[in-house]
Amino acid sequence: MKCDPNLYRAAPPSLAVKPRLIRHLFLPPLVIILMIGLGYAGFWTSEHFGIRSLSENGQRQLELNARAVESEISKYTYLPSLLELETSVSQLLADPTPEHRRTVNDYLEGLNRRSRSRAIYVMDTTGRVMATSNWRDVDSYLGEDLSFRAYFQKAIRGEPGRFYGIGSTNGEPGYYLAHGLEEHGKIIGVAVVKVRMEAMEERWQRARLEAFVSDENGIIILSSDPARRLKSVIPLTDEIKERLARSLQYYWFPLNELQPLARETLSEGVEKLTFPANSEVQSDADNISYLAQTRQLSDTPWNFTLLTPLQDLRREAINQGILVAVAFALVAFLLIAWNERRKVIATRLAAREALQEANNQLERRITERTTDLRASNERLKSQIRERRQAEETLRRAQDELVQAGKLAAIGQMSTSIAHELNQPLAAMRTLSGNTVRFLERGQLDVASTNLKTINELIDRMGRITASLRSFARRGDNQGQASLGKAVEAALQLLGARLESSALNIHRQFIDVQVQIDQTRLEQILVNLIGNALDAMQAQPQPELWLEGEEFNAKYRLRVRDNGHGIDAEARKHLFEPFFTTKPGEQGLGLGLTLSASLAAATGGHLGVEHPASGGTTFVLSLPLVSPTPAEPI
Ligand code: ADP
Repeated sequence: MKCDPNLYRAAPPSLAVKPRLIRHLFLPPLVIILMIGLGYAGFWTSEHFGIRSLSENGQRQLELNARAVESEISKYTYLPSLLELETSVSQLLADPTPEHRRTVNDYLEGLNRRSRSRAIYVMDTTGRVMATSNWRDVDSYLGEDLSFRAYFQKAIRGEPGRFYGIGSTNGEPGYYLAHGLEEHGKIIGVAVVKVRMEAMEERWQRARLEAFVSDENGIIILSSDPARRLKSVIPLTDEIKERLARSLQYYWFPLNELQPLARETLSEGVEKLTFPANSEVQSDADNISYLAQTRQLSDTPWNFTLLTPLQDLRREAINQGILVAVAFALVAFLLIAWNERRKVIATRLAAREALQEANNQLERRITERTTDLRASNERLKSQIRERRQAEETLRRAQDELVQAGKLAAIGQMSTSIAHELNQPLAAMRTLSGNTVRFLERGQLDVASTNLKTINELIDRMGRITASLRSFARRGDNQGQASLGKAVEAALQLLGARLESSALNIHRQFIDVQVQIDQTRLEQILVNLIGNALDAMQAQPQPELWLEGEEFNAKYRLRVRDNGHGIDAEARKHLFEPFFTTKPGEQGLGLGLTLSASLAAATGGHLGVEHPASGGTTFVLSLPLVSPTPAEPI
């Protein structure tokens, strides 16, 4: 029983290996790329939403702090206009006597002290300072010409003068609020309040708030970080620089741009600014990013900018990015592992199914073959039965034939047997008659000799009838026979014929045990020797050779005579039943047929040879019981 080899044949290597190779080559880089990509996406999303949330929160802070700046500025808005109500001021402007000046100086000094402003002063229409709160100081503005100041020029035109600048007298920065003083609809002078707003910066620093205020020129005038003060938030061209220098608004301070390392506009009024770190050892990691939210301060051309540091947010975003990348790697690993396991299970299932299928096929084939075998077994059995029956019939026929042959032989021999038996009987009658007479005469010696002879005759008759009985008896294929005994028994059976001929017998064989029934062997030999005697009837010097030899675990006995031989035509029919050349009742034509079949029945053979020297040789081969040679006769 063979399994179908196709079921177990592996897939061609080219098809099985390539996809796996491609997968192993491309999967790890793909996973790494996706990890980096998703990590970056996580980082970006986290930063984006973080900035949005910060920006919403910062918007409130911006509003709150911008309002605080506005209220700080607006606190002083009406202070210069109040001087319009002060008659001493208008008197001074109308009549600038030292007395009027002193009065106004004292007044302004007191007002300045109460309002906690930096300085309050009054100018005439030419821009000269007529009176000032700091008239006692060495660097007092008194008598100074400040007509070049923008706030003066605006105020003299009747517009509110708002100005941040650095004092030309003492280089002190401040916020200037100017108001044109009117009298009868005509401007007679300008009142100015200078305010310092460092308090605001200090407040921001205390609150750890990063913020700055930039003026109409984009110059930072207030900043929680002093380093950013007087830096420009917009690009400064040479032209602008020159204009600002000429205005002396920022005195002689050098104006530089606030140069962030990176600037990204996120939305209207919202920017992302990155500044270099303040530390001496600088690296990219030390750079500080801010979310800059800007809002214009009401009533001024100024902008308030709130800076919210993004370090924490960035760190958080990096953590989120790493987390996303790690989570993806974990998911990818789990997916790959799951996929591998799924494939292993699928392969196992496929193998199991293939095995099951092969098994089923095998079972189907076994069933088919078993059915076939059973059928052929049945056929064989019936053939065996038929053969046995035929064999039985044959055997029976053979037995019948043997029996018939025997009976025929007995019939043939009956004359000789009768003669054989009559002779001793006649002799016994004569001897017994004589014995009676010798007894009557008292010749006991002669009578006893006669009785001994009678006994011997009876023994001989007994032997004749015994061999006849054994010859006529049905034999079988089993048993073993002694060749020597069989030859002697056959010669004894043919004794009468032998005596009537001057036959010379040559015994050249050994007494071996052969596998045949003793009676059957005797029957064969009677046939062969009888035929030889018949053939040598006309021979004046009949010779019979009985020659034996061992050959291939068989014993071969040649029965050779120097009779008339067999002609060519008769040779063809020699072993055919009822073929005989003998006249009348002498031959039945069964002897050779039966002998050959008896030899064949025990695994032996009977053949014939025709020696060139004349006569006939019958060759009888019979299987040996034991190849050990017996005693030579
Ligand atoms: P039967 O002796 O009754 O004729 P057999 O079968 O014994 O039948 O012999 C068949 C014939 O074979 C004989 O008639 C004889 O012609 C021939 N035959 C047998 N043996 C010899 C022999 N030794 N020499 C010559 N002829 C033989």
